[in-house]
Amino acid sequence: MSQVEEKSVFDDLSALIKESFPDLRCLRCGHDKFYLLEENIYLAKQDGSLFRKEINIFKAERPSITTLACARCGHLESHMTEILVSAPKPIPRE
Ligand SMILES: [Zn+2]
Repeated sequence: MSQVEEKSVFDDLSALIKESFPDLRCLRCGHDKFYLLEENIYLAKQDGSLFRKEINIFKAERPSITTLACARCGHLESHMTEILVSAPKPIPRE
């Protein structure tokens, strides 16, 4: 595992969020600091156990869902990454 490649996915998603929502605020409390969460999707196996879907950092693969957590209140905001990528930037509020 390379720290450089792992960091590049984080930087890529961070830049995507900043470009999409330059004035991003928490939808609950209005705070402007967020944690960018690692993908945390668990898939159920047929035996009922869960396994974690891994990101292929060697391909610098973006996670399918990009999730932010408000650093003050913990409110979670998730985006389908590919929709975010294809949307014209910045994305205005309608
Ligand atoms: Zn908040």
